[in-house]
Amino acid sequence: MGLAEYKKKRDFRKTPEPKGEVKKSGSNVFVVQKHDASHLHYDLRLEVDGVLKSWAVPKGPSMNPEVKRLAIETEDHPVSYASFEGVIPEGYGAGTVMIWDNGDYENNSDLPMKKSFEKGHLSFSLKGSKLKGEFTLIKTKRENQWLLIKKDDEYSSEKDILKLKPKSVLSNKTLEEIRKS
Ligand code: MN
Repeated sequence: MGLAEYKKKRDFRKTPEPKGEVKKSGSNVFVVQKHDASHLHYDLRLEVDGVLKSWAVPKGPSMNPEVKRLAIETEDHPVSYASFEGVIPEGYGAGTVMIWDNGDYENNSDLPMKKSFEKGHLSFSLKGSKLKGEFTLIKTKRENQWLLIKKDDEYSSEKDILKLKPKSVLSNKTLEEIRKS
């Protein structure tokens, strides 16, 4: 855990992304950023012990409990990254970033999030504007590969939330509008 890898990958003279620090007091924020990089994907980030644990979800989250979405573990991000929406210039992660959803989450396990992360099994409830209810993240045998699965609850649905609600929860902009602004 820490931000060494995050910092190593970026040139802060060029990118508007936050430099960030490991946060001291703990809140429980989550963010899902829609990221139009070389391939469009969604980045799920959960605050754990002062950083954002991060996964790139190529197909994005689903509210359908029968759907398992591949989630590729990526480097920890600073908590301040949860408020980043904008354009990353040429270099690592180049492309437009939208805050697609955000809010707090609740740990549903008896174990602390960090322990669950190490065990490769997270269970949490999201309290976003779009994503609500219980989710699990389960580590597979393949390196850095997890599965993001919605639990069957009052919020689960077969509707495609990515298509139904494509815009930013922060600015109500589309990716195109963020790119131009
Ligand atoms: Mn990304």
